Amino acid sequence: MSKYSQTFIGLGSNLEDPACQINNALKALSELPNSKELICAPWYSSKAVGPGEQPDYINSVASLKTTLPQLELLHYLQAIENQQGRKRDIRWGARTLDLDLLLYDNIQHNSDELTLPHPEIQHRSFVLLPLYDLAPELILPNGDKLEELAKQCDTSGLKLMTSDNANK
Ligand code: AMP
Repeated sequence: MSKYSQTFIGLGSNLEDPACQINNALKALSELPNSKELICAPWYSSKAVGPGEQPDYINSVASLKTTLPQLELLHYLQAIENQQGRKRDIRWGARTLDLDLLLYDNIQHNSDELTLPHPEIQHRSFVLLPLYDLAPELILPNGDKLEELAKQCDTSGLKLMTSDNANK
């Protein structure tokens, strides 16, 4: 019997009906081969960082157990982004869908194609908070406690989406 790895995937969208983009991405993730137990954290809205005026983002994090190797999983994530019309033109520009492989078990990995853990986890409240919602006890591979990082991060511009302020 194959051993499942615990992964966390960051989701973000700020174009072309972001709620629909996130829902479609979750459906695609739930249909990945050799994978099970997809759980999505609550959704957050966040102010865009990057060039020019951009609409707000919807961000969340999904937990997924998989036996797909890490690079194969990354390629599936990129295929889902492409299916949903992602154009890789402007760095940090507006996007229909961004999927980041945040964590894959406790693996630390650095290659041209894949860095694990995702290098921006510590700096992004829109990743730290939904990740904390899913896994409050989590300790990152470098020993940092997620709870501490989530408490210390700058949450300006970040809002938990509720049924009152979202059409989820
Ligand atoms: P982005 O524009 O943020 O989606 O970045 C995509 C690029 O980052 C791709 O070329 C990936 O190969 C690379 N990359 C490196 N590490 C990761 C990761 N942990 N998750 C997603 N993309 C990654």
